[in-house]
Amino acid sequence: MRIVLLGPPGAGKGTQAKRISAAYDILHLSTGEMLRAVAATDTVTGKRTRQAMASGKLVPDQDVIAAVFQRISQPDALRGFVLDGFPRTVSQAVVFDDLLDREGGEIDHAIELRADESVLLDRITTRASEAREQGCAVREDDTSEAQKVRLREYSEQTAPLIDYYRSRNILRTIDGLQSIDAVTTELFRMIECGSWAS
Ligand code: AMP
Repeated sequence: MRIVLLGPPGAGKGTQAKRISAAYDILHLSTGEMLRAVAATDTVTGKRTRQAMASGKLVPDQDVIAAVFQRISQPDALRGFVLDGFPRTVSQAVVFDDLLDREGGEIDHAIELRADESVLLDRITTRASEAREQGCAVREDDTSEAQKVRLREYSEQTAPLIDYYRSRNILRTIDGLQSIDAVTTELFRMIECGSWAS
């Protein structure tokens, strides 16, 4: 099973992707996590990645696509995967679909977690202050300035994917502002009922 989760930053993709991965025993691939590891390296790509991520901008397509291809060719991706944060541009989606197609596969579900921007800005600010209170590391891009850039990147670069997947008839949308459990219940129902669930 191959699932793409779409939604603006803070909509809950990471939380839901972990639950899907555990319930269906498929790989959870978070490009944000993957790129944070790249950003921590002392290389030219590491520096480029770090700068883009800290400002809230997208990392160049070629750096992301190569890393995703490499990861999903590992044996633990054979049963399927849930993608959290990828694709984020139509060109990433096109290249990715080509690759799957060559291997005789395709995306089964593209699920959008829809959420209002003003609520998301609050969520990100809360996530950062809770992490600070608990003495945990705070993500460099969990500032309101970076979040505004991330939301703009989402509406300009990622939101067009909604039409892309809709035109392929695999897009379903969930209200991401419901409780975490309610979103999970709806997600599982969509996955289990196939592409004809509402
Ligand atoms: P996330 O953890 O998904 O919120 O991603 C954090 C940051 O990683 C984003 O703001 C981007 O800078 C970068 N990133 C994650 N996934 C992608 C992607 N598919 N394409 C480009 N940049 C990405």
